[in-house]
Amino acid sequence: MRLLLVEDDAMIGASVQSGLRQEGYSVDWVRDGAAAELALAGGVHEMILLDLGLPKKSGLELLAGLRRRGLALPVLVITARDAVADRVKGLDAGADDYLVKPFDLDELSARIRALLRRQAGRASPLIENGALTLNPATHEVLLHGAPVNLSAREFALLHALLEQPGVPLSRTQLEDRLYGWEEEIESNTVEVYIHSLRRKLGAEWIRNVRGVGYLVPQQS
Ligand code: CA
Repeated sequence: MRLLLVEDDAMIGASVQSGLRQEGYSVDWVRDGAAAELALAGGVHEMILLDLGLPKKSGLELLAGLRRRGLALPVLVITARDAVADRVKGLDAGADDYLVKPFDLDELSARIRALLRRQAGRASPLIENGALTLNPATHEVLLHGAPVNLSAREFALLHALLEQPGVPLSRTQLEDRLYGWEEEIESNTVEVYIHSLRRKLGAEWIRNVRGVGYLVPQQS
């Protein structure tokens, strides 16, 4: 799960980035509105965490521009402005939720999960596919009811594939989901994680679509 954090406050930015990375998210951090627009042009992020008071282009301007262009990415506004008028403006400009600073990291990550769930059209916090259940909140994976121990990257990879069972994701798409800009990608890492997921779950759970990528077969 790859997120874009737009925050000019160095301390808040660093703590949000490291806190969410520990939860297994890949977090790219930019410090002004113009850099955020550039980053979003890459199309690799699944959610934006957006501060409102930003240099170069305000969060509200940025948000309004994204929605005008029809970008449906979930946006969670994190703001020091707790005036009701500002919150209303943010929501009217197309924010999906907001948090007022200072906030607790646990609350931030719970709101992120709720937004991603809504985005995926799921009411249940669990992702289920046949005998396989993944809990994004606890990072637990159960196969036939028994827990499967996965590393943070293995979990992220399985999470990406389970969001759209039956739909293949290419190696590049999976790398985009797993890594932020500052992280080195070794050329065969996706294959390595796929290999170990197959070993832990059973090879039938992850199919290689030749020349296209990988998928988790849809189960009823
Ligand atoms: Ca700010």
